Amino acid sequence: MKLPSYAATLVAATLLTPLTGTAVTSAAQTGGTTALPSVNMEATVKAAQIDPRRADDTLTPGAKASVLLVERALRDRDLLDAKWVDGYFGTTTVAAYAKYQKSLGYSGLGANGLPGRTSLARLGAGRFTVADVIEPGARVSSGGVVINTRTQSMLAEAKRLLGRPLVLDQGSYNPGGDPTSAGTHDGGGVVDISVKGMTSATRTCVARSLRQVGFAAWVRSPDQGDWPWHIHAVAINDTDLSSQAQHQTGDYYLGQNGLSGRGPDDGPKVTIRTWEEYQRR
Ligand SMILES: [Zn+2]
Repeated sequence: MKLPSYAATLVAATLLTPLTGTAVTSAAQTGGTTALPSVNMEATVKAAQIDPRRADDTLTPGAKASVLLVERALRDRDLLDAKWVDGYFGTTTVAAYAKYQKSLGYSGLGANGLPGRTSLARLGAGRFTVADVIEPGARVSSGGVVINTRTQSMLAEAKRLLGRPLVLDQGSYNPGGDPTSAGTHDGGGVVDISVKGMTSATRTCVARSLRQVGFAAWVRSPDQGDWPWHIHAVAINDTDLSSQAQHQTGDYYLGQNGLSGRGPDDGPKVTIRTWEEYQRR
């Protein structure tokens, strides 16, 4: 039977009052857990790549409040001196975060000093929630090399923009695989792309497309190192990046070429975006 609308309104009013009262009481009793501040993971990870490479104390835009929450949590675990709680995710904060990851039992890439989803959530227990989560995804085989699914999606989009296939010369998670790479391919997010048969203009086009979808990508020539022509690409904000690759993405934001001499960026200029920013554009 359908109640006349005025009767339904009366029933609703009667029910709502005690329920609302109960909800307020329980939130007060538990300390209002719904009011925890939120850490923006994307902004925090970005700061952790750029800030250690800065020559000055400029803060990464949009990251300060989140980095402060992380730094206070590290300080309260006696992993970071109070004087470094400043919103700047520099070398000392990266080292403190790596120590925290080791304290959780992680080693190798799991203790790379870059906040990952699980470690960040555990650090925030009772203190902050984690928003804008980044996931490198599972490791998959692609053309005979290993990459993660985030990198795989980025490469697929770059191929779509270019309208041509891309061949990988080297993948990720490849420690000691190529001694000329100085550890950059040890972690996730890093690939070398073959430029065999490409003109100089085509190489530049490929590097531009890779940059558009969120890679720090450079055309490498034989006169820059002990390697053949290729494109080296690092997926910005991949939380599995090795330390060396983290430095390269930081240098890319700072207008450098990602080589040990830290020369000026010699690649095509595009608006720098992470993969997640590209997808939201
Ligand atoms: Zn490479």
